[in-house]
Amino acid sequence: MPEGDTVWLAAHNLNRALAGQTLTRTDFRVPRFATVDLTARAILGVGARGKHLFWRFDDGLSLHTHFKMDGTWHLYRRGRRWRAPAFEARAVLETETWQAVGFRLPVLELIATDTEERTVAHLGPDLLGPSWDAAEATARLKACAETPLGEALLDQSVMAGIGNVYKCEICYLRGLDPWTPVEMVADPGAVVALAKRLLEANRYSARHVTTGIDRPGRAHWVYGRRAQPCLRCGTPIRKADQLVQGSKRVVYWCPSCQPSHNLKVKER
Ligand SMILES: [Zn+2]
Repeated sequence: MPEGDTVWLAAHNLNRALAGQTLTRTDFRVPRFATVDLTARAILGVGARGKHLFWRFDDGLSLHTHFKMDGTWHLYRRGRRWRAPAFEARAVLETETWQAVGFRLPVLELIATDTEERTVAHLGPDLLGPSWDAAEATARLKACAETPLGEALLDQSVMAGIGNVYKCEICYLRGLDPWTPVEMVADPGAVVALAKRLLEANRYSARHVTTGIDRPGRAHWVYGRRAQPCLRCGTPIRKADQLVQGSKRVVYWCPSCQPSHNLKVKER
């Protein structure tokens, strides 16, 4: 599951290269839109809302995509070789000089631009959006009450943009076990502020560095570091599954720096 800053960066790069250009060819490889042709439309811009990405065209249409688990947009100079297999392509948008290819996109739909808001109405404040509202995000987090913090942080209706990496790193940096009920978190506002800081710090980078050290194996405090010593206390980092809205999501934590509030943690 990509983090919000990954989607933000994809939109930023697409927008920088393509805003104002005219489409010379489009190819939608999903049955519902297979016959749609947007040739000759101008691209007004590309933007992100949480993990949703919107292309906006000058005929009042928007292309809405969501990356879900591993979807992505690539941008190529025309004629360059794709870095993913063609059968995974769901949409190809071409201008005179560029080719944007959306791969493995489970959500791809053409909607009226003025209905975009409805599409993302369920989202909480967008951590990287222009109308970020920390107080509103904090209130929504507090309202999670008995929900474990690790689960609440992934809930995009609380705030939009956090994925597994930031979830784990935020819990670690606040010294909170991911199973801690939100109502036991002493300072929810500080959790929200930290989330904002981490996503902003990484938004121009393809990686999610939380330690300040952009080196392999050192970029994260706990994420991806199972059984390795905690960078602060040396205790082996643990890894488990946490049930989030019915599906298992991986979680890493240091049992010493993040004392447990729950005995039902199952190691794997
Ligand atoms: Zn530790």
